[in-house]
Amino acid sequence: MAPDRARRVLVVEDEESLAESIRYNLERDGYSVEVAFDGRDALRQARTTPPDLVLLDLMLPEMAGLDVCRALRSSSSVPIIIVTAKDAEADIVAGLEVGADDYVTKPFSMRELIARVSANLRRVDMAVPADGRGDEILEGGRVRLDVSRHEATVGGQAVDFRPKEYDLLATFLRRPGRLLTRDYLIEEVWGPGYYGDMKTLDVHIRRIRNKIEEDPHRPVHLVTVRGLGYKYVNG
Ligand code: CA
Repeated sequence: MAPDRARRVLVVEDEESLAESIRYNLERDGYSVEVAFDGRDALRQARTTPPDLVLLDLMLPEMAGLDVCRALRSSSSVPIIIVTAKDAEADIVAGLEVGADDYVTKPFSMRELIARVSANLRRVDMAVPADGRGDEILEGGRVRLDVSRHEATVGGQAVDFRPKEYDLLATFLRRPGRLLTRDYLIEEVWGPGYYGDMKTLDVHIRRIRNKIEEDPHRPVHLVTVRGLGYKYVNG
């Protein structure tokens, strides 16, 4: 499903030496790379030559990275990986909330960065079913969901999930290994107009754990990321 042409990555990074190092490493892996040193330039480049993925440093001169992220997302579903300082949890959450798909923290290794780029592009490829009929099979660890039939198995055994549990689990399986914030999950599963008790989410997480984890009190698949949200680990 990968296109014939090289994948285009737009690197938005004001530190010139870092930007060039990222360019060198991505190009060596067969990507085509454009560099923007500030947010305005990034938006201009994204408009004229739409990238397949954007790597966006949040600490930029002139236009804040979060605003760039929001602006990109308002017109495109391109995967966006934000780059933040280590331990900048508030930035990570804010970035994910304005539409970033993933994040890496500085300092990162080039190997890690390229793995993230490739994983995010792979997810986009997988989102379009090869036969075009919309059949969607989601698998992760012991869990397998046949979304078009609304069926589920855990370790090969049929398991019954309530509708919201099913939707929540599917949301996790579509984004394995990725931190999903509480707000994101609620909006995805309950919709943007949901003003109910936030504990609803925790209750559903607990019910899912009871059905998929060998030891629900020590989850290894559906794990809590303290203070941020949850993520699904295939394991
Ligand atoms: Ca910077």
